[in-house]
Amino acid sequence: KLFNEVQELKGNIRVHCRIRPFLPGEDQTSTTIEYGSDNGELILENPGKQGKEGKKLFKFNKVLGPSASQDEVFKDIQPLIRSVLDGYNVCIFAYGQTGSGKTYTMTGPENATEMDWGVNYRALNDLFHISLSRRDTIMYEVSVQMIEIYNEQIHDLLSTSGSKKLGILNASQPNGFAVPDATKHLVNSSSDVIELMGIGLKNRSIGATALNERSSRSHSIVTIHIQGVDLKTGATLRGALHLVDLAGSERVDRSAATGDRLKEAQHINKSLSALGDVIFSLSQKNAHVPYRNSKLTQVLQNSLGGHAKTLMFVQINPDVSSYAETLSTLKFAERVS
Ligand code: ADP
Ligand code: MG
Repeated sequence: KLFNEVQELKGNIRVHCRIRPFLPGEDQTSTTIEYGSDNGELILENPGKQGKEGKKLFKFNKVLGPSASQDEVFKDIQPLIRSVLDGYNVCIFAYGQTGSGKTYTMTGPENATEMDWGVNYRALNDLFHISLSRRDTIMYEVSVQMIEIYNEQIHDLLSTSGSKKLGILNASQPNGFAVPDATKHLVNSSSDVIELMGIGLKNRSIGATALNERSSRSHSIVTIHIQGVDLKTGATLRGALHLVDLAGSERVDRSAATGDRLKEAQHINKSLSALGDVIFSLSQKNAHVPYRNSKLTQVLQNSLGGHAKTLMFVQINPDVSSYAETLSTLKFAERVS
């Protein structure tokens, strides 16, 4: 049964576009976005051009409107999470400009209640739930790592001795994660993981200087490793789920940015376009996939391509003033879907 559910997610790369609702203070009288009810289509309208000329059509595996609940968002990807327990490597990304709802989708709002939990918590709950239901046949072990990539440097967010800088091991890793020195924590329940993620998030913000909201300028990766032992045959299987909250994709005005801000922007640009290039080459079934161009793609190399499955949430804002960023986000998405 599980296998059939996995099959329903055709292809190894899926792209779901999520439009966040208007926030207080935004001009709610007009939007640049029209979308169909169930066909995955979205039309972006250029506020400066009237009529057909100003409209551009984009197609996704799914479009989630502003009223989509966290539960609905998760239901669509549940089979993907389950496939981790069958030995797949799965990457889930959230892409979009700062403020477009990446963290809301992956983690939830601040002080979330169970109802508005994001993908991370729901995925963990499912993983533990399913592994318990199989305990008569397979014994699973679950462990967690959490890193941040900032200015092309990797930091361990779960190290007890401060957030250490880490290196990459390019040799193929069986668990699909090329940061062997990131601390790995065995967990027994989703509440263990929630506690760990809380520590990770705290470590992430400690690294930030005042007025510099670092979380929007770094990629965070929570990796959940699964190892299952078949109690009859002794055969083992491994799967990994990578939950990636990407750095904000907004363009920085190059003439205005200087110093650290410019450096950050260049690193973000480089790694996001490297990610786009990798996913594009995979979707084209190219023989050469350019993993080496960024830390992000190197870290996830063994979980992108091959039998691995990828889902990208493309997050967009509904307001007219976000038009230019929304267009650039949708163009990125168009290339990888
Ligand atoms: P990002 O991580 O992309 O910078 P956030 O996830 O922090 O964006 O979202 C920006 C703001 O919008 C937050 O206050 C968040 O709670 C709110 N928000 C985002 N998506 C939704 C949604 N689907 N429903 C309600 N509020 C949302
Ligand atoms: Mg965020």
